[in-house]
Formats: sequence, structure tokens, C-alpha cells
Amino acid sequence: MSHILTAFPLQASYFIATLLLILGLKRMSSPRTARNGIVWAGVGMLIAVAVTLVYLPGISNLVVPDGSAQRLLLILFAVVVGAVPAWWTGRRVPLTEMPQMVAIYNGLGGGAAGAIAAVEMYSGRAYNGSLAFPIIAVIGALFGATAFGGSVVAFLKLQSWMGSPRIPGRHFINGILSLAALALTLASIHPDWVSGLNLSVDALVSIFLGVSLILGFFVTLPIGGADMPVVISTYNACIGLAVGFEGFVVQNPAMIIAGTIVGAAGSLLTVLMARAMNRSFLNVWFSGFGDVAAAAAAGGETRTMNAMEVRDAAATMAYSENVIIVPGYGLAVAQAQHKLWELVQMLQAKGVKVKFAVHPVAGRMPGHMSVLLAEAGVPYDLIYDLEEINSDFANADVALVIGANDVVNPAARNDKSSPIYGMPILNADQAKQVLVIKRGKGAGFSGIENELFFGPNTHMVFGDAQGVITQMIQALKEV
Ligand code: NDP
Repeated sequence: MSHILTAFPLQASYFIATLLLILGLKRMSSPRTARNGIVWAGVGMLIAVAVTLVYLPGISNLVVPDGSAQRLLLILFAVVVGAVPAWWTGRRVPLTEMPQMVAIYNGLGGGAAGAIAAVEMYSGRAYNGSLAFPIIAVIGALFGATAFGGSVVAFLKLQSWMGSPRIPGRHFINGILSLAALALTLASIHPDWVSGLNLSVDALVSIFLGVSLILGFFVTLPIGGADMPVVISTYNACIGLAVGFEGFVVQNPAMIIAGTIVGAAGSLLTVLMARAMNRSFLNVWFSGFGDVAAAAAAGGETRTMNAMEVRDAAATMAYSENVIIVPGYGLAVAQAQHKLWELVQMLQAKGVKVKFAVHPVAGRMPGHMSVLLAEAGVPYDLIYDLEEINSDFANADVALVIGANDVVNPAARNDKSSPIYGMPILNADQAKQVLVIKRGKGAGFSGIENELFFGPNTHMVFGDAQGVITQMIQALKEV
């Protein structure tokens, strides 16, 4: 009877939590409902954590007293240690630093899944039932620990606390590490298979987890910063699967469903991002793209770019009929989205039709530009995807490129030798006139030159995006 009293609210709450998570994720698919979706999913997760603490026998002493008050205190302490810095950093982090924040919190999820597996293996519980349990526990641990190690490296790189060192024989080292991790995975599933080694289960599991961590570390080390978002989303998929697997082991349906959803979403995101850059998954992970791009950029550029004064650029737009704005990473760095929206409203007041063209990998994370524009209050019906707007550039009087580079590089269309050849780009070069706001002659994230900046119909408006747009607003007041 007491079991039913605990099991029913627990399972019912997990059901509600899962429902909220799924509905929240659904709402995140549109910018209009995304904020709200985050709250729904968050409430779902809060319910899942709270009811686990309150109802799960053996975890707390609130409903099933078992004298484990200290354990509950420890759990609450851990919740505070996790939640307080997450809340604080979540509120303070600028959008441009979001990828590294996602990397580290994502990685911690992997570490948590690995830790659950470790507890189940150290305690022997993972080995008590059928062989399916250790198989699931150990594979989850492999995914979780490897993704944790890799995510820490991704965080350090994106935070610029670590470079991308050239490691001689890196493929060989990673091959050996992968084989070792595979052998240790098999051995940890059934420690009796390696009883001849005279290793305790604890020692075996510790070595297995250590090698998995090191594998994640080394595999991620040589990958360039530009590819980090794809790497992070791959780890995100692994971590989702790890959580789902460990959900089976501890028989927690909320973990199984949430983990599986994250696994599926992470996999899809990885494929979509790789496709948006026209790169294969293997190419992202093993090509050393940064090196290729640096070599391509090493030629040295001697041509000059046509510059234009801010005042003239503002007047050009004011006397246009159609303007398409292409936002890129530089807009996010400059935090110029609010000023940009002010500028656009002034142009609209002068009768200019303005649209925003958003490339799927503009900025540094999927949806980066949409989030930025939404934050500034730009209406969604002015924001267009690449496929929707690309044919409009040919009829646009002005394409205003703000802090974007790779996503408007015609080399992706025309130059077969370019490292970004084949990546779909926004056809800004086809507009009657192209105005580019950027600080100098710096290359884009891929490190390669951009033909667009030397085009006969292109003018550069040099300066920080925020400063230039502020001056444009001033100039428009006088037009
Ligand atoms: P890029 O990184 O290619 O270029 C940004 C440009 O902004 C630079 O050329 C820089 O030039 C300029 N810039 C920097 N700071 C400022 C500032 N304060 N004011 C004005 N301009 C500034 O950006 P894109 O958005 O075009 O391309 C995104 C890149 O990121 C692509 O290569 C994409 O593949 C990659 N990527 C994106 C992912 C995503 O999910 N969004 C995922 C994986 C990779 P200068 O220094 O001269 O000012």
C-alpha cells in the first residue's frame, strides 16, 4: 500500500514533467513562443527534480523515513552549489559567449550521467540483473565521460583559454585511445571476462572512466574553434543518450524520455549545422578545417577595398526602395541590435522596405541572429531564412551587411578550391549596391578572404557596428 502511495504521485509527476518538457520544446521551435517554451520545459524539470527528492524511496526521508537526513542535506547542498552559479552566469553571460556556456553545462550533464553509471557499477547494482543492464550502464558511461572530457576542452577553446595545438600523429593517438576505450567498455560490461588481469571491479571501472575522459579530451583538442558548435551539439546528442541509458539503469522514466529527446535533437542539430556549412560530419571532426582555412588565407591580400563615409551610406539607404540587412557575428559582438532596429524604423518611416536575411549559421550558434533580433524587438515577419530571401537580393537596391563575412562569401559558390566551397550563402553580392559594416580587413571565422568586399558594387563602411549604426541614425535625422 505504501508503495502505491509513493509510486503513483511519483509516476504521475514524471508524466506531467515529461509532457511539459515536450510541449516546451515544441514551443521553442518558433521565435514567438520560444521564451515561453523555455519556462514550460524548466518547470517540467523542476517538478521532476522536486518529486524525485520528495517521493523516491531511498533518496529522501520525507515520505519514506529511512534515517537518511544527512543524505538529503547533501543533495540539497549539491542543488544549491549547482543552481546558484548557473543562475548567476545564465543571467550575466552575453549572447556571444553562449556557446561556451552551453558547452560547459552540457558537459556537466555528461559528467552527471557518467557519475550515475559509476555509482551503479561501483555498488555492483549494475551487475545484479540481466546482461542488458551493464551493457546500457557502461555504454551510457562511455558516452557521458567522453562527452564531459570533450565539452571541457570545447569550453576552454571557446573561452580562448586554450588553442588548437597541432598534435603529431593525432589520428594514431586517437585510434589507440578509441581501441583502449572499446576494450575497457567490453571488460566493464562483464568484469569476469578479464578476471585473469586480477583487477578489482572498482579499479577496472575507474580506468575505463579515466580513458573515456582522456579520449574526449584528445579527440576535441585539435578541432578548430569554428567547428566547436558542431562538436558541442554532437556531444549534446551523446549526453542525451547517456542520460537516457542511465534512466533505464535507475528505472527513471523522466530521464529516459528527456535523454532520448535531447539525443534526437542533438543529432538532428549536428546534421543540420554540418549541412548548412556543406561539410560532412566526419570532415568537421577529422579534417583540421582551421589549418586548411589558415593555409588558404596565407596568400596575403594586396587589393584595396572601396570605402564609403557613414553619412553617404545612410543617404544611399534613405533614397532606396528595398534594403536587405544581413546580420552576422560582428553585430552580436558589438551588441548593436537595438540601434539597428532604431535605424530600420527610421528607414521604414521614410518609406524604405526593409527585410532581414538570416543565414542558418550566422553568428556562433544556431538561431543566434534570430535570438538577437527578437531581443531588440524586430517583428518576426521582417526576418527571412536563406531559402526564402535569396532570390530577392537581385531586386534589392542595397544589401547592408553588418558584421557578417563567411555567410556572404561568394567563394562558397564560385571557387572550387575554397575551404567553404559548397556552403549555401546569402546572395548579397547580387544586390545593386552592397554596403558592409565591419571594423577593418579582418577575415571571417573560417579565416579566408571574402571576394564580396572587393566587388565593384561593394562599399565598406569601416568601424564598430554599434558606432557606425549610431552615426547612421544621426545622419538619417539630417537627410
Ligand atoms: P564571421 O565570423 O564569418 O565574420 C564576422 C565578421 O564580423 C568579421 O569579419 C569581423 O571583421 C566582423 N566584426 C567583428 N567584430 C565586429 C564589430 N564589433 N563591429 C563590426 N564588425 C565586426 O561571421 P558570420 O556570421 O558571417 O559567419 C559565422 C561563421 O561561424 C561561419 O563561418 C559559420 O560556419 C561559423 N559557425 C557558425 C555556427 C552557428 O551555429 N552559427 C556553427 C559553426 C560554425 P573585422 O574584424 O574586420 O571587424
